[in-house]
Amino acid sequence: MKPKALQNCGKCGLCLSVCPVYKISNQEEASPRARLQLIKYYKNENLLSSSGLKEIISKCLMCGSCKAICPSGIDHYSQFMEMRAQMRKDHGEKSAIKSLTYLLAKESRIRLAAGAAKIGQKIIPQNFIQKYNLGNIPLKRFPRLNKKPFRQAVPEIIQPDRNKKGTLLYFTGCATNHIFDKTGFSTINILKQMGYTVIIPKKQTCCGIPMLFHGAGKQAEKNVLTNIKCLDKEDIKAIIVDCPTCGTALKDEYPALMQRLDKDVDAAKRISSKVIDIMSFIIQESDLKNFSNSIDKIKVTYHLPCHLKNSRKTSNNTEKILDKLDWIEYERAIDVDECCGGGGTFFYEYPEISKKMMDKKIKNAKNTGSSIWLTDCPVCRINLSGNLKRKDKITVRHPVEIINNVLFNT
Ligand code: SF4
Ligand code: SF4
Repeated sequence: MKPKALQNCGKCGLCLSVCPVYKISNQEEASPRARLQLIKYYKNENLLSSSGLKEIISKCLMCGSCKAICPSGIDHYSQFMEMRAQMRKDHGEKSAIKSLTYLLAKESRIRLAAGAAKIGQKIIPQNFIQKYNLGNIPLKRFPRLNKKPFRQAVPEIIQPDRNKKGTLLYFTGCATNHIFDKTGFSTINILKQMGYTVIIPKKQTCCGIPMLFHGAGKQAEKNVLTNIKCLDKEDIKAIIVDCPTCGTALKDEYPALMQRLDKDVDAAKRISSKVIDIMSFIIQESDLKNFSNSIDKIKVTYHLPCHLKNSRKTSNNTEKILDKLDWIEYERAIDVDECCGGGGTFFYEYPEISKKMMDKKIKNAKNTGSSIWLTDCPVCRINLSGNLKRKDKITVRHPVEIINNVLFNT
């Protein structure tokens, strides 16, 4: 940790205006500014490590809004990650979080856990599922797992239907692989129709962000090195991601981590320069003429994930597409870019704060009168759909799914 970076904080308070946790709690100790000051005091040995300090550092969504707005250019992520690692060392970790980071550190464990969860969804009695919550989400509202992991259900190389425009790598992330395979099939279908060969490296694994954000950087290293090996290929036009958090990992955190480890820095930078989310790729490579359709307009609203808004400066590309498609009536919610409170495991660790954020989002989404709520992030999707009630009659989808359904009827 470089104290100079912390000392650069002019305590202007701009970060307070965008921090979702601060906005709910209204307490200085819940603000990014306070977290940085506490880290500084701790580093200067003016503050002892304590479980209370760990709690303050943990009560953060790692949404990146503070980093994006900070006029002093402070990298809050790296400060928080390093401090989280220290707190984990000093005070241990909640067993659920420890298990999660342990599972995600190895692909065979992820597969095993997904298989066990799938069996659980079949055999756990309905009265149990109806009764219990995971954080702020009722178990009954959790999505079903894919019948088969997405990467096993598709060939490694998929050729386009027409003119070959180039080759893309597709980093699917764990959510598409195990939960939202429709997002994966839709992404492939759209890219094929656009004329691209799509390679889905079989050996890719979890991007490592859950471990990095929970201060388990050591556990993340293997994942990061495996993915760098899979993704650092010549003659690739772009590396497509369908999850903004995976995008943040590959684009921003891999080069930073490799720099710290002094390993594979050039490869991480090459990968970073090619990463792009699917919606940004669509609008970058297409004038959307081929995305036109004469059906009656479908009314949709949208939730902008924090990691799309803050990390990769491509925040409004999905909205741009929604505005341009002639078969979409896009109704913008007034809080479209407000955090939903999902935050990886935040919805589980801090359900009360998360629920307050979510209740507002749901109220404003309902006010748009839309029956479809689009979002690009799988955790946001789980959080939004998990908190909606059946009577709300709103379904949550990734934008590629509705495009694929309408245009290609699959
Ligand atoms: S925006 Fe940056 S400089 Fe201002 S208080 Fe927050 S961390 Fe400090
Ligand atoms: S990352 Fe998000 S939740 Fe955490 S301190 Fe910054 S703005 Fe607040």
